[in-house]
Amino acid sequence: MKIDILTLFPEMFRPVTQDSMLGRAVEKGILDIRLTDIRDFSNDKHNKADDYPFGGGGGMVMMADPIFGAMEHVEAKGRKVIYMSPRGKILDEGKIKELSQLNDMVILCGHYEGVDQRVLDYWDAEEISIGDYVLTGGELPAMVLIDSVARLLPGVLGNENSALDESVYSGLLEHPQYTQPREYRGMKVPEVLVSGNHKLIDLWKLEESLKITKERRPELFQKYISHRDDKNKDGTRRFSKDEKMIMDKLK
Ligand code: SAM
Repeated sequence: MKIDILTLFPEMFRPVTQDSMLGRAVEKGILDIRLTDIRDFSNDKHNKADDYPFGGGGGMVMMADPIFGAMEHVEAKGRKVIYMSPRGKILDEGKIKELSQLNDMVILCGHYEGVDQRVLDYWDAEEISIGDYVLTGGELPAMVLIDSVARLLPGVLGNENSALDESVYSGLLEHPQYTQPREYRGMKVPEVLVSGNHKLIDLWKLEESLKITKERRPELFQKYISHRDDKNKDGTRRFSKDEKMIMDKLK
């Protein structure tokens, strides 16, 4: 997947795109992340990239011309252009899956009060928000988007099944996890997890997932109940016997 990032602060991305999982994906050639500094396309002698908004109001607005220059430099015409913005649709599981099917995108990061609207209109940018709160710039949101999309690309995670087993993707929140030692400061790992009985372990995980989801995210729980397709041959939507037993217990 090729991703061009247009930003006033390219340095912010280096630690994230050079280290850890994203860094490895770049090394393996699964991700090709290119950073473009919008300021390099300013015609102003002080590399100015923002100005006062027409019509007044506080703050500054990123000017169209340097962004157009950066867009032309990365040959953005005809490519998917995303503008990180609190006005956008919220990034969720569905959007992340959709974006993971693409192999090419341009991400524009705003700053100050945002960018001149003509940039968004001309480059047909899709606005995407990472949540109903406002950050100072689009760099952290862009990293959130890239990280969440990259996890779904084949070869990025060690175990390819694991991405879809996680909280939310599976339709439920994840059960608690434990590792060594078996007892820490008097707190023991649940007995069932060290029993070696895999059927019981799976049931315990499912029960914990259902409990946590019901308690913390009742809307997800309801969705799971109404949409769960246990892939019966006749295509009907049903729960497995074990799931039913646990659901009955939770009622
Ligand atoms: N004046 C803008 C508004 O009210 O919609 C907010 C601008 S914000 C201070 C500066 C930049 O941070 C935005 O242009 C955007 O790129 C980014 N940003 C802030 N919050 C965001 C969010 N929740 N999701 C995605 N991007 C965000």
